[in-house]
Amino acid sequence: VTALDASAIKADFPILAEQVNGHPLAYLDSAATSQKPLAVLDAERDFLTHANAAVHRGAHTLAAEATELFEDARATVAGFVGAQPEQLVWTSGATMGLNLVAYSIGNARLVRPGDEIVTTAIEHHANLIPWQELAARTGAVLRHIPAHDDGTLDMDAAASLITERTRVVAFTHVSNVLGIVNPVAELIALAQGVGAITVMDACQSAPHLPLDLPALGVDLAVFSGHKMLGPYGVGGLYGRTPVLEALPPFLTGGSMITTVTLDRAEYLPPPQRFEAGTQPVGPAIGLAAAVRYLDAVGLDRIHAHEGMLAQRMHAGLAEIPGIRLLGDAAGVERVGLWAFDVDGVHAHDAGQYLDALGIAVRVGHHCAAPLHSRYGVTASVRASTALYNTTDDVDRLIEAVAGIRPYFGV
Ligand code: PMP
Repeated sequence: VTALDASAIKADFPILAEQVNGHPLAYLDSAATSQKPLAVLDAERDFLTHANAAVHRGAHTLAAEATELFEDARATVAGFVGAQPEQLVWTSGATMGLNLVAYSIGNARLVRPGDEIVTTAIEHHANLIPWQELAARTGAVLRHIPAHDDGTLDMDAAASLITERTRVVAFTHVSNVLGIVNPVAELIALAQGVGAITVMDACQSAPHLPLDLPALGVDLAVFSGHKMLGPYGVGGLYGRTPVLEALPPFLTGGSMITTVTLDRAEYLPPPQRFEAGTQPVGPAIGLAAAVRYLDAVGLDRIHAHEGMLAQRMHAGLAEIPGIRLLGDAAGVERVGLWAFDVDGVHAHDAGQYLDALGIAVRVGHHCAAPLHSRYGVTASVRASTALYNTTDDVDRLIEAVAGIRPYFGV
């Protein structure tokens, strides 16, 4: 693949021209939320300026136009992950998608007392707590695939944890702390071998590498608009058609029914069955513009670019005394993020030091507290990239991190 021109891409993102604390912004917090190109801002504004109306019901011209734009957006976003439009359910984000799935699986009584739900020890809380709650509601047992010290999943343990008792296997494609691309095809094969439903958190992979969810064979997968150059308040839930058809609704109300009497209701087929109430129409149209932007650059090129940035970051950070990179496995496929501990300096102090130099990183446990406990820390500093980051952003980070411990006198 040909290299992408990150400086040219950066120019499409107005916020990346900001000065922060007297320095040009080096935005290295895209794993928390990405910045948005002008094309996304324009798409939402154009919709609201020229075509805004309630979708799926109005008898007027604008309503028809809005419905067409909304359903085109569904087809575009579905196509981005290799899926058909009816396999894509709009959500408000990945957290909502995972809760929808956990509640629907529970409502379908697909998990019973003594059954097992398998997740991993490296999940974001959004792909952990809904399963804890489902286990508590159903009397099921929650099990966790452990990780090795180097951040890779223990696949031998996975093979013995996934058994005939397993009903659901939920895992992240890429951890938002470790950046390692997990062997999800192997996990899916293990789950399929015992007839378990697979649920994948694709938040940290969808904006960074090519995804073909039907080809992967996963049953259900979620992703988040605001992490993939799109607006807040919108996300996607992909489902294999027979799996979506077997699941009952989670939320109920308007827009998801065929007939209603005072005593009962019949539900629409997927995806509308899962889309109760007014949908995030403008954000969905913005998200379609975002995935068109990603596709135009090319996910292969983005993945290669961010892989190069990850390597450069690793080479620089690993040289600095007192820096411990979390999940430092060699020879694995990665996205462009590293979380690290600075010996003797609290992550929050390190973050403030970097911010003073115009470098935006995230500090804390990144909603993965159990994973941090495993590494014996309560917080880390995380630098994460997207297609718009340049080698200069990374070099500024490395130089600045080298100054942290001397500054704090450790
Ligand atoms: N899973 C992962 C791996 C994430 O990084 C995040 C966002 N931090 C989420 C889930 C939650 O996504 P959302 O913000 O769309 O609810």
